[in-house]
Order: sequence, then structure tokens, then C-alpha cells
Amino acid sequence: MSFLTLTNLQKSFGQVQVVHNFNMSIEKGEFVSFLGPSGCGKTTVLRMIAGFETPTGGSLFINGKDQRPLKPNQRNIGMVFQAYALFPNMNVHDNVAFGLKVAGMSKADIDARVKEMLGLIRLDHLADRFPYQMSGGQQQRVALARALAVKPQVLLLDEPLSALDAKIRVSLREEIRLIQQKLGITTIFVTHDQEEALSISDRIVVMNAGKADQIGTPFEVYNTPATRFVASFVGTLNMIEAKVVDPAANRIQIGDQAVTLKQSLAAYKAGETVSLALRPEAGSLSDSVRSDTALTGQVISAHFLGSVIRTRMNVGGNVISFDMFNSPGITPPQAGETVTLRFMAADLLVVRD
Ligand code: ATP
Repeated sequence: MSFLTLTNLQKSFGQVQVVHNFNMSIEKGEFVSFLGPSGCGKTTVLRMIAGFETPTGGSLFINGKDQRPLKPNQRNIGMVFQAYALFPNMNVHDNVAFGLKVAGMSKADIDARVKEMLGLIRLDHLADRFPYQMSGGQQQRVALARALAVKPQVLLLDEPLSALDAKIRVSLREEIRLIQQKLGITTIFVTHDQEEALSISDRIVVMNAGKADQIGTPFEVYNTPATRFVASFVGTLNMIEAKVVDPAANRIQIGDQAVTLKQSLAAYKAGETVSLALRPEAGSLSDSVRSDTALTGQVISAHFLGSVIRTRMNVGGNVISFDMFNSPGITPPQAGETVTLRFMAADLLVVRD
């Protein structure tokens, strides 16, 4: 059995089911992100793990132990929320010491642990400050230290960075990942920010309407999305309509142009309409080693965005966007011009709905 196992976990509020048969196994020391749009049930799953919500079905085990009969304070779980949630009337030392005092630890042991935790988040020098005297990023680091001080068996982070500005978000997410790896603590991180999830996770659970659409490494969910929803939520994407021509030969047709895919089409029938995903960064107008297939179409528009020229073209009624890297002397394509977009056949993927 894995360290944390959720089996057919369900949650309904009244008549409305918001989590449907959620299954997931997390290994000890893993960093897993729950990624999905607002309202898809990420926080509800997290709150069931923490014991703040009672599942309406399914089971929840941590380290071989059924958690359902346990109250939140019996589960030994650390949690950090989006809002800083520090005790406003306590200084940093006392905030971090709070859970240790409740656990009845001696003053000397508390002081040693608080010092260790403040060292971990590099705020040893701010032990006497009150929350209102610190930046949002500093407060979130204190919230992290407070959650970790009790040496929880699992750390749950519910959008801990979303109230911070962009630059602090990036540095703090890297800091969280480093601390998590140093301590080897099993962590679940809730976010609706795909870049955040891609950059720091061992695995990502892409959630859609209370279900896990795909569970995989960042590379897997980005490069081989299992569903149309995953493909469109993780990264920018072209969706292209095509017809299966010869399933045995993996051959499809886009408009009047035939393409042979790398992906097996054995599960499809000739004449069936399918959706294909193609990342804008996969295509280029130049013939290179990164291309073994091509589509020809007419340029609709080309916008200079600094590092790239984002170009839209029409291929058999499909609008396909791709990025040309800028360089001195480049000539952006003109609207109406006929161009040939080259890419690897493996980059064009059939995704199910
Ligand atoms: P966000 O990113 O906006 O926080 P989320 O993916 O974390 O969203 P949840 O907070 O888990 O989503 O909510 C999932 C669904 O359950 C939403 O439709 C929400 O309105 C509903 N919900 C959550 N808590 C309750 C509650 N206590 N009573 C009734 N409905 C609830």
C-alpha cells in the first residue's frame, strides 16, 4: 500500500456531488499537485484528507491507518492556506511555537524547534516581529514553518502563493520545493496555476468537475494529455478537427491534407471524426530536424510579441497558432500568404473528450 491512499473518495453537499470516485496513491516523500479550475473540488479533497470534511463515500488511509475515525488534530497533518492565517496577536516565535505548546513540549525543546524552523525558512532574524510587520511572502514562510514545526506526516498546501505578487510567487515556490525535498515530507499542493504545478511537482493530478482526468508526471500531462480537458488546461493548445482515413496505417485527414501520426489509431474507425492537439511551440516554418511532417495553409495574422511572432493560419477551416522565434533579420509572414508548418508527427495527438 502507498503512504497515502484515497479510494473512491466521494463528497456531496446536499444533493450536489462535488467529488466523484477520486482515486489516488501517493508515495512517501512525493510532491503531488492538484491542478484544476475554480470549483473542481481540489480544496474539498484536501479538506477531507485533513479531516475538516467527512467523505460521503470511499476510504482514506495514511501510513496504513484508516483516517476516517480520526479528528483533524489526531491526523498529524500540517496545513497552509491561501490567506496567511497567522495569529495576529502573536509574534513569529509564538506563531511557530503554537502547535508545540498545544502538544505539551517543554520550553527548551520548543525554543530549539522554533529556531530550527526559522532557520529553514531563513527568517531567524524576525522571531520578534508581528504578522502586520511582515510582507505577504514572509508571512507565508512563517505559516509554512508553523505547519512543519509539529513534524506532520503529510503537508497540505492550499493555494499558498495565490495572494502574492508574481515575482515572490516564483521564488517562494522554489523555496517550498527545496524545503520539501530536504525534509522528504509527503506534500499535496493545490493550485489552479499550470506553470506552478509543472515547475515543482513530482506528479500532477489534473482535476475536472470533481474527478481526476489524468495523474502523471509534469512531462506526461503536458506531452501526452489523456483528455481534451487536460490538453487545453495545461498549456496553450491548438485543437484540430480531423477524419480518420486508414486506422491501420495511423492515417488521418485535415481538410484535404493527409498526415500519418506516430500514435496508434487502432481503436478508431475509418471515417470517424477526431480531435487533435498540437502545441504552438511544436511547429515551425523552417525545415529542420524537428520536423517529419507538414501542413500547408494561409496566414490569418502575425503578431510581434518580443521574443516570438505568434502566427495564426487556416488549415482546412482549422485555425492553428504557432510561435516563430524572433531573430534579427526575420521576416514575419503576411496575412494571406501560403505557408507550410512543419512539426514532428509525434507532436500531433488524438485526445478523447
Ligand atoms: P477554488 O480553486 O475556487 O478554491 P476548488 O477546486 O478548490 O476551487 P472546492 O472549494 O473544492 O473547489 O469546491 C468544489 C465545489 O463544491 C464548488 O462547486 C463549491 O461551491 C462546492 N462547495 C464547497 N464547499 C461547500 C459547502 N460547504 N457547501 C456546499 N457546497 C460547497
